[in-house]
Amino acid sequence: MTSEPSFWRRCSSCKTEIGFEQRYWVCSVSTCNRKRTGLIFCSVRCWDTHLPTARHRDAWAVEERSPSLEQVQRAAAGADRRGARKTAAGGSARTSDPRTEILVVVSRLKNFVKESRGMSTSDGVMPILSDHLRYLADQAAQRAERHGRRTILERDMKDALKGDWGEW
Ligand SMILES: [Zn+2]
Ligand SMILES: [Zn+2]
Repeated sequence: MTSEPSFWRRCSSCKTEIGFEQRYWVCSVSTCNRKRTGLIFCSVRCWDTHLPTARHRDAWAVEERSPSLEQVQRAAAGADRRGARKTAAGGSARTSDPRTEILVVVSRLKNFVKESRGMSTSDGVMPILSDHLRYLADQAAQRAERHGRRTILERDMKDALKGDWGEW
């Protein structure tokens, strides 16, 4: 039996271990945030340190939550089955499972609730919202498919939101 990784990944700046199901930050700039080279940070202060070299015009730190060990292992198992690229050893599996990962920008949602209602939002809300988005996307995809399309259009999503199957 192979030993389980004790942490998820390391901070791109200070190399501190970032554990499973833990808060971390990424850069809002997409080039810093690509899957292959994705920079991750253990704190906003560590995110700050990459700014002088990156020279972004407009950037902020986006709060994320690392996957659970189970999610990482499941994703790795899926990747193995597909014969996809090998994941490096030592707890550096980067694949996030699109079936379980958080799809909402947590900090922005929390900010919206805070601004509009002055309330806080529990992290436990995020997986539920993400599942709901997956459900809607799936419903819309089915509608697109029935119309012979491989692209989800606005109207598919509108119908999905209404629970409306329209005319076939
Ligand atoms: Zn750090
Ligand atoms: Zn950046």
